[in-house]
Amino acid sequence: MNRWAAAHGLGPAQRLTDSPLATDTLRSNRGEMIIAIGSRDAEWNGRQLHLGFDPEMVDGEVYLHGLDLQKNLEPLLCEGPLTFGRGTVIVLDPGHGGMNSGTISVLDHRPEKEFTLDLARRVKPLLEGAGWVVYLTRTNDFDLALSNRVIFADKHHADLFISLHFNSAAPDRKQSGLETYCLTPAGMPSTLTRGFADPWQEYLPNNNFDSQNLQLAVRLHAALLRSSGEEDRGVRRARFIGVLRGQKRPAILIEGGYLSNPVEAAKIESPEFRQKLAEAIARALLGNVASNPSTTMTQTTRAQNIADAP
Ligand SMILES: [Zn+2]
Repeated sequence: MNRWAAAHGLGPAQRLTDSPLATDTLRSNRGEMIIAIGSRDAEWNGRQLHLGFDPEMVDGEVYLHGLDLQKNLEPLLCEGPLTFGRGTVIVLDPGHGGMNSGTISVLDHRPEKEFTLDLARRVKPLLEGAGWVVYLTRTNDFDLALSNRVIFADKHHADLFISLHFNSAAPDRKQSGLETYCLTPAGMPSTLTRGFADPWQEYLPNNNFDSQNLQLAVRLHAALLRSSGEEDRGVRRARFIGVLRGQKRPAILIEGGYLSNPVEAAKIESPEFRQKLAEAIARALLGNVASNPSTTMTQTTRAQNIADAP
């Protein structure tokens, strides 16, 4: 890790503590990464980040897997922030719909699909007010196959894709908190597999955006935690999520709290809370507005977007 840090112009790691796990910190002008030896749970600027492999100590030196250095540390510690300008095209994907209700609230059985759509509708005007072009994969209560959500983003030449969901651990009523997912880089095990195969070597279309996916995920995750006060369950990696795998643009999926937890379900059912989440998403996306209005798209794609508008 120290050799990598030196090669990237960073100072050596500092030891924070020796027990229960030896814990080191690496800093750059972008923030602080905390690594615990023997644990995939790291921290980036005080928020949970799940690594692909356990850091190890060999002869007093900390070793990280090359993919963790390349896919987790480098984008955050070394790369400049993502910037989006006016005219950025974003597809918001309210999870589920129609017969596919998603999970249900433990309080009164209201379905996830209702809250995801409401949240997307709240985000839309906030981004449009800043000159963004916003499309929703669905604007009312109908189901859309996961593959069609990806095709929808292609058709609208989206620069970014965000899928909105709420979580469930039923029958457990205690689990709570917010998770943000992006696609697992090739060669790395996922944080979550949900019983699906996790073919490490598979290189998927969205792997072209590994670095931007992570930057987008940590930025939205931090903003949502700050404004919602929810528990931090971390930025996580998964390979099975159908709306992310084939995306030809940075793409993340947000699980905005547990409908199976009565306290969290009460929050999610409150319009004021959903407005807070929407404002956090918009603020995070608009946080670094580029001075050049077309950094993320060309005039040609913008014209196509207008032509394709529903
Ligand atoms: Zn869902």
